[in-house]
Amino acid sequence: MRIFKFGGASVKDANGVRNVVNVLRITGFRDLGVVVSAMGKTTNALEEILARYQKNDNSYLKLIDKLYEQHNEIIVELEEVTDFINEDEVLRFRESGIKNILKGIIEALKGELLRNKTKNYSFLYDQVVSHGELISTKIVAAFLNACNIPVQWVDARELIKTDTKYRDAGVQWQETENTIKNISGSSFLTQGFIGSDDNGFTTTLGREGSDYTAAILAYCLDAESVTIWKDVPGVLNADPRVFQDTVLLEKIPYNEAIELAFYGASVIHPKTLQPLQRKSIPLHVKSFLNPKENGSTITHSNTLLPEIPCYIVRKNLIFLRVSSRDFSFIGEGNISEIFHELSEAKMQVGLLQNSAISFSICVEDKYSLINVLLSRLQERYDVSVVKNVALYTIRHYNGEKVSSIENEQQVLLKQRTQETLQVVVKQ
Ligand code: ASP
Ligand code: MG
Repeated sequence: MRIFKFGGASVKDANGVRNVVNVLRITGFRDLGVVVSAMGKTTNALEEILARYQKNDNSYLKLIDKLYEQHNEIIVELEEVTDFINEDEVLRFRESGIKNILKGIIEALKGELLRNKTKNYSFLYDQVVSHGELISTKIVAAFLNACNIPVQWVDARELIKTDTKYRDAGVQWQETENTIKNISGSSFLTQGFIGSDDNGFTTTLGREGSDYTAAILAYCLDAESVTIWKDVPGVLNADPRVFQDTVLLEKIPYNEAIELAFYGASVIHPKTLQPLQRKSIPLHVKSFLNPKENGSTITHSNTLLPEIPCYIVRKNLIFLRVSSRDFSFIGEGNISEIFHELSEAKMQVGLLQNSAISFSICVEDKYSLINVLLSRLQERYDVSVVKNVALYTIRHYNGEKVSSIENEQQVLLKQRTQETLQVVVKQ
């Protein structure tokens, strides 16, 4: 069995959905599990609907209608005959009843909000936001079946069993393995991102969680591989929006992919890699525009191929230097105290370095808690703060390109280990 995952960008419009057919015709579709995210920016739109609902702003109903229109528009466009979708196929799609199915899901979404009594935001979030995936998978499955690609539509909430940590649910592996083994038929299509708890309520696995769904299914089905279809040729050695001359990484060891993600590369989330690594299931990242190209493979291998430096930049971080007031050494006690405060303020630490009397840290202030942190630290330490810094990380550093980073900008800190060079610069 192979598992494919198509993200929101790959099914953002009718052409995207048609292209899924194209990809499956090229790669074959026997013994295939297909995971699909919500179309385009639907999840963001659903978040906005919920935000307005929470503010008692009735315009949320208009946004739901807009969501309906957008999806209906895609269905209407899919009813057109194109170069590789013929009249019979279009007719079958029309006869699938997909327009009414869409209406039904939209009504269910409205009903969910109109009937709602709960004050538990995260719970409600999952009940609402999951509708994006329900709609997209119904449309894609109806279209594939019409195009002679037989896939069984499966409700992911019957497969992925989780705890009740809404918005960031944890998988109950044993139960999930048991339910997934019950899937019958050769190929199926299901939603990414969503699951259900013991009471049958919908849960979600965290934003961008569809990759993780693909990995969970692959793990439970002992799949031979997972392929994530993207709008880029694969995993590159740097973000092309920041660096020039990027190179495609053909083979990436699991550990290296986890390291790259740790330093801030938007590769694949470590949570997705862990189940795959445990069962040695390779993960392919390929372009849905060039499905015949190899793309990148994350797998058990010893070295990166090609073995070249990888550049990662994280921007808008804060650089802190915490010093003792009386020139006493910064010891284990102080460090543990500082870390306690960092963790209370939910800061993500990107880099740290200590000297005898000071401790330097580069943090990301995801929850806007920097002032809370500073006031706590300043009770006992002198703290200097530089906002808007960038942290460059170079894995497999070979001396190149760094000079350009350093020449252009003011360097606040540089740290080198055997594999990795990190430079903090003022933005
Ligand atoms: N649709 C969800 C999101 O946008 C899950 C995903 O795309 O992976 O976060
Ligand atoms: Mg998405």
